[in-house]
Amino acid sequence: MSENENRTFICIQCPVGCTVLVERAGDAVRLSGNQCKRGEEYVMQELANPTRVLTTTIWIRHGTHPLLPVRSREEIRKELMKACVRELSRVHVEAPVKCGEVVHKNVGGTGIDVVATRSIERRNHEKIHPGD
Ligand code: SF4
Repeated sequence: MSENENRTFICIQCPVGCTVLVERAGDAVRLSGNQCKRGEEYVMQELANPTRVLTTTIWIRHGTHPLLPVRSREEIRKELMKACVRELSRVHVEAPVKCGEVVHKNVGGTGIDVVATRSIERRNHEKIHPGD
């Protein structure tokens, strides 16, 4: 954001979804439209260092579904998201997996682990190795 630029954000801290206008003139920053302090904190964080919880899916071998939904345990810097998603696209885990289980550690070198957001059972043996 340049020195004299206006910008709007949608606060995602609660379902109200206030539209917050940020007006900047030199070093002065003025916020309006937020209904509470959390909105101000959210926007200031977005301006300084935007972060998000990463949610995606990874491959799971021998599971009752081919993909396992996962999320990062903590918020990750937005600028690192693409690299983390790319890294996770190469990860394969083995079924069964329990919801909440760590399936990948230290994603993107952030120190943050990735956990399963649902349980997936293992397919029965006949379906994995037909004819055995
Ligand atoms: S500013 Fe406050 S009321 Fe508005 S969306 Fe954010 S948390 Fe909710």
